[in-house]
Amino acid sequence: MSQRKKSQPAVADANSGVASAAVSGASVEILPRVFREAVAQADIAISITDTRANILYVNPAFERVTGYSGAEAVGKNQSMLSAKATPAAVYKQLWRTIDAGAPWTGRLINHRKDGGEYLADLLITPVLDAEGRVGNYLGIHRDVTAMHRLECQVNNQKALIESVVDSAPVAIALLDGQDCVVLDNHEYKKLMGDLGMAEPASIILDAVRADLGHGLGPARDGAQAFADREIRVDPPGGKSPRWFSCTGTWVRSVDEGADAFFGHKDSIYLLLVAKEITLQRAQQEKARMAALQAMMAEENRVSGIRESLSAALFQMEGPLNVLASVVAMQGRRGQHDPTAAALGEALRAGQDVLDTLRRAIPEPSTETATATNVNEVLRDVLDLTTGRLLAAGVTVNWKPQSVLPTIPGYPIRLRAMIKALIDNALEAMNTKGWRVRELTLATRGLLGSVEILIEDSGPGIAPELHLKVFEPFFTTKNGGGHHAGTGLAMAQQVVADHGGMIEIDAAHGGGCRMRVTLPTRRAEG
Ligand code: FAD
Repeated sequence: MSQRKKSQPAVADANSGVASAAVSGASVEILPRVFREAVAQADIAISITDTRANILYVNPAFERVTGYSGAEAVGKNQSMLSAKATPAAVYKQLWRTIDAGAPWTGRLINHRKDGGEYLADLLITPVLDAEGRVGNYLGIHRDVTAMHRLECQVNNQKALIESVVDSAPVAIALLDGQDCVVLDNHEYKKLMGDLGMAEPASIILDAVRADLGHGLGPARDGAQAFADREIRVDPPGGKSPRWFSCTGTWVRSVDEGADAFFGHKDSIYLLLVAKEITLQRAQQEKARMAALQAMMAEENRVSGIRESLSAALFQMEGPLNVLASVVAMQGRRGQHDPTAAALGEALRAGQDVLDTLRRAIPEPSTETATATNVNEVLRDVLDLTTGRLLAAGVTVNWKPQSVLPTIPGYPIRLRAMIKALIDNALEAMNTKGWRVRELTLATRGLLGSVEILIEDSGPGIAPELHLKVFEPFFTTKNGGGHHAGTGLAMAQQVVADHGGMIEIDAAHGGGCRMRVTLPTRRAEG
C-alpha cells in the first residue's frame, strides 16, 4: 500500500480493489473498509483499470448496468463495452485528456453482454501515484438512454413547436414584464422589417392599453389580457395603414435558476398574437369611403345652406336692429303718423322673414360619440381631398404617429372640422403665383390627449388676427368668393364639443399652423 495524497482516495491494491488514504487519527482504521464498502455499494457503475484500460475491478452496479459479472469483466479491456458506434475522434480526445492526467467526461455508445445498446455517461478520473504519474483510471458511468430519449423528445417537440410557430401566418411575440420581446416568430420579424419599426409589439401594446383604459386583464396563467382588439398601424413614410386583430394571453414560465428549485418561482409573460386584417379592412374601407364620400357631399351641401342662411340672417339683423330702434324711438315720442306705422309694419315683416329664415336653417346632424382614431379621420379627409390637392399642385407631408390612442369622438363632425382646416390651407396657398405649396398633417399622442397639426406654406395669418379669425363671419378674403367666414367658427365649436382646444401656433414662422388637441377621455360630469 503506497502513500496517497491527502484526501485523494484511489486504488492501492488493484487486484483486491482495496483503497486507503493518508488521514489522521482513528479514521485510518476504518477508512479502507468504508471506501471499499462505499464503492461496492454505490448505485453507479464503477471500474478501476490500469493505464491501458484493462479492467482491474468492477462494482456490483457495473455488473447490473453491463450484464458482465466481475469475473467476466476483470482482465478484459474497457473497449469490450464499445458498441463500435462512437466516433473514433471521441476516443482520441478521451485518451489525449486522461493521458495528460486530466479527468474526461462524455457520452459513449456501449453494448451490454446481451448485445443491447445503451448510452453511457462516463467520467474517467486518472489516479496519480506518489510521483504524480498516472497509475490507474477510475471509470464511473451510468445508463442515460432514457434521459437522452427524453431530451430528444423535448428538443424534437421544441423544434416542432418552433417550426409551427414560425410557419404560422400570424405575428407572435412573447413579452416579459418590461414589455421586452424575449421570443418571436418569422412573421413578427417580417413585420418589423415591413413597418420599419424596432419593436411593433410594444407599440401595439401601448395602443391596446390606451384603448382599454382600464388596463389589461388579470395576469393569471392562461388568462386573456385582451382579445380581438383591432389596432391600426400607420407605418412611417406615408405608407398605407395596416390593420391587425390582436390578442394577448398571459403565460407562466417556471424559473430555471437553481434558487428556484424548491421555491417554484415563476414569471408571467404576455403572448401577443397579431393577425393582419388589412385586406379585409381594405374591402370594408372601399365601401366605407364610397359611403363617406356621399355623406360628406350631402353634409357639405347642408352646411353650405346653413352657412348661406346664417350669413343672410347675420346681414339682415343689422338693418332690422336699426329699424327696431327707430320704431322704438318714434313710439317713445308718441309719433303715430303713417310713416311710423309703415316702419312698424316693415319691421314686423322683416322679423317674420328672419324667423322664416331661422326655421329654414337645417339642423346639424346628430351623432353619438364612438372610439375614434384621429389618423383615420385625417386620412379619410385627405383621401377625399386628393383630387383638389393634386390639381392645386400641393405636396402633402403625412406624418401620423404610427399607433394613436382613440378618442371619444363624433367622426362626422371631426371630418367636417378637418376638412374646413384643409380647405382653408388649400385656399391660402392656391393664389396665383404662390410657389411653395406644402401641406403637412401630423398627429401624436400626448399625455391624455391627441394632437393634430395642420400646417400650410401659405402667407399665414397676422398675429393680431389669431383670435379674431375664429369669430363667425370673419374673413380675411375681402368679400371674396363664396367665403362666409364660418369655417373656423365651426371648427372651434367641434373642438369644444370634444372638450379640446384649437389655436394658431404663434411660434411657427411662415405659413399657418393650426394645432388641435383632443382629449382621450371624456371629462367627468
Ligand atoms: P482504441 O481506442 O484504439 O483502443 C485500442 C486499445 O488501445 C484499447 O485497449 C484502448 O484501451 C487502448 N488505448 C487506446 N489509446 C490509448 C492510449 N492513449 N493510452 C493507452 N491505451 C490506449 N470505451 C467504451 O467504449 N466504453 C466504456 O464504457 C469505456 N470505459 C472506459 C473506462 C476507463 C476507465 C477507460 C480508461 C477507458 C474506457 N473506454 C471505454 C475507452 C476504451 O478503453 C477504448 O479506448 C474504446 O472503447 C475504444 O476502443 P477501440 O478498441 O475501438 O479502439
